[in-house]
Amino acid sequence: MIRTILILLLISSSLLMAHDYHSFAKPEDCALTHAKFDLNIDFENKVISGIAYLSLKKVKNVKEVFIDTKDLDIISVNDISGKALTFELLEKVEFLGRALRIELPNDISEISIRYKTTTKSSALQWLSPEQTKGKKYPFLFTQGQAILSRTWIPVQDSPGIRFTWEANISCDKNLLPVMSGLNPQSKNASGNYHFEMNKPVPAYLIALAVGNLDFKSLGPKTGVYSEPEMLEMSALEFSDLEAMLQAAEALYGEYKWGRYDVIVLPPSFPFGGMENPMLTFATPTILAGDKSLTSLIAHELAHSWSGNLVTNQTWDDFWLNEGFTVYFERRIMESLYGKDYADMLAVLGYQDLIETITDLGNESDDTKLKLNLKGRDADDGMTDIAYEKGCLLLLQLEKMKGRQAFDKFLNEYFNNFAFKSISTEEFLEYISERLALTADELSVMKTWIYQPGLPGEIAIPSSSLFENVDAEIAAFVSGKKEPVQLEVKNWSSHEWLHFLRNLPGNLSLDKVENLDDVFEFTASGNSEIKFAWLMKVIPLGYKKADKAADEFLLSVGRRKFVLPMFKMLAAQPRLKEHAKELYSNARLGYHSVTAQSVDEVFN
Ligand SMILES: [Zn+2]
Repeated sequence: MIRTILILLLISSSLLMAHDYHSFAKPEDCALTHAKFDLNIDFENKVISGIAYLSLKKVKNVKEVFIDTKDLDIISVNDISGKALTFELLEKVEFLGRALRIELPNDISEISIRYKTTTKSSALQWLSPEQTKGKKYPFLFTQGQAILSRTWIPVQDSPGIRFTWEANISCDKNLLPVMSGLNPQSKNASGNYHFEMNKPVPAYLIALAVGNLDFKSLGPKTGVYSEPEMLEMSALEFSDLEAMLQAAEALYGEYKWGRYDVIVLPPSFPFGGMENPMLTFATPTILAGDKSLTSLIAHELAHSWSGNLVTNQTWDDFWLNEGFTVYFERRIMESLYGKDYADMLAVLGYQDLIETITDLGNESDDTKLKLNLKGRDADDGMTDIAYEKGCLLLLQLEKMKGRQAFDKFLNEYFNNFAFKSISTEEFLEYISERLALTADELSVMKTWIYQPGLPGEIAIPSSSLFENVDAEIAAFVSGKKEPVQLEVKNWSSHEWLHFLRNLPGNLSLDKVENLDDVFEFTASGNSEIKFAWLMKVIPLGYKKADKAADEFLLSVGRRKFVLPMFKMLAAQPRLKEHAKELYSNARLGYHSVTAQSVDEVFN
C-alpha cells in the first residue's frame, strides 16, 4: 500500500515538473551541477573574459549538452585534459539568445568554455566614474533576473536548475569585487579574489559588482557595502538590519545562508533591490534619511526563504517567489514596527494592485497568478500581479486557516522545499494536503491562481492611520483647512504617499502651489514622495515641477519610477516632444532592463 502511494507520488511529481521554455537546457538529459569561473574584469574595454568550468551530470546516456548563451563570444570548448570539443551556437531565438550545443564523447563530466562578453551583454552595466557617487572610479554591476545571466556567464540559465559555484575574479587593484556569495570585507594588494557559493542556486541568483567599495559591519551577521561617500548614510539607514534578520528567523526558521549583507549601488540600478544570496543589491533611492523605505530591505531579506531557498520552477510560477516574499516582508515589518505600520504597507500594495489590474484589464491573462509567458520575454511577468495579488491570496489563506496554523505551514513549506525549485501545481498539491483544504477551499485557491482579475469576495486591506489621512485630505479639498493647518505631525513616508496618491485629479493649481509652498514636495529628497507628487501634479499643469521631473529621470534608473514617469510625460501634449528628447539623453544612464521597457513607450 505504502509502496503504491510512493510510486503514485513519484509519477505525479514528475508530471508536475514543468518545462522551462525560457531555457535551451535539457536538464532531464544532462544537468549542470557545479560551475567555476576564472574571470578578468577589463574596465577599459568593458569586457569580462575568461573560462567557465562546468561540471555536468548525465541523467541519460546522451552525447551532447545544451548551455544557454546570449550575446557571448564563445572562443573554445575543451574537456578537462585540454582536448578541444566540437561545439556550435544554434540559431538565435528572440529573447532567449543562442543555445550552445557541445558534443560529449565518452564519459566526460567536466568541460571548460573560454569566452568573453560583448557590448550587447545586457546583464552588465558599465558605469563611467561620472556615473558614480565618488566620480573617481568606474563601476560594474550585473543583473541576472530573469534571463540575463546567460549574457555574462555561459550556464544552464533556468530557475529550475540549481548548481553550486565558485569564482576567481581579477580586477583593478583600486577596486573591490563582491558577489552573491561569501565576500571579502576589504581590498587586497593583488586585485585577485576568490568567491564561493556552496548551496545550489539557480543561475539568475549569480551576481557581481565591482567598484570603489567599502564595508561597514552592522551586527554579527550583517553589514553594508557602498562607495565610501555613501557608507555612513547607508549604515544609518540600515541600522535595523540585524534585528530584521532575527525577526525573520523568529517567523520562518533558521537563515540558511550564513551572512546577510547589503550593497548600495549607484542610482542607475534598475530595481529597488535584487535578492542576490548573501548580498542584496539595493538602489540608493531607498536612502530616505529616516529608515522609512527600508521595507524594501525586509523584502529582499525575505527572499532568502521565498525565492532563494524555495524557487519558482519556471517564470510562469514567478508569484511563488514574489507573493510569498511580499507577505513575509510585511510580517517582518509588523514584528519590528507594529501592526499599524504593516497595515499601511498592505493598503499601499493593494492600491498598486488595483492600478495594475486596471492597466492590464480585468480579463487579461497577465492578471492570472499562473502566467503563460511562452514566446515572450520572461521579464513581462514581473508585474504587481505576482507581488500583490500573490500576497493577497496568502492573506486570504491566513484568514481561512488562522495565523498560527498558516505560520506552521509556512515553516514546514520552507524546510520541505529548501534548495529546491517548485511549480505552482506542486505547491497546490502540498498545501491542500498540509492545510487539509476542503474541496471548496481548494477551488477558491484555483480561482485565484488560474482566473484573471480578483475574485468577488476578498478581505480588502485597511489602515486606521490612513483614515486620519483621508480626513485631512477631505478637509483640505473642501477648503476647511489650509495646508499649514493640516495635522501631519509624525506622518511617515507611507502616510504622505497615501495623501499624495489620493488627492483628487482635478485639484486647482492654486491648491497645488499652496501645498508645495508648505511641504516642498517638488524639492523632496525622498524618492517615493517626490515620485508620487510629480505623477500627480504634472498632469494638472503644474509647470514648476517639470524641471524636477527632468532631473529625477536623469539621475535615477529604477524602472518602477522611470517607466511610469515617462509614460505620464509622453501623455501630456505640452511635454510629449520634450519627453522624447529627454529620454534620448537619460537612456544612456539606464541599465538595459529599464531601457528596454521605456523604449516601448516611444516606439
Ligand atoms: Zn521580490
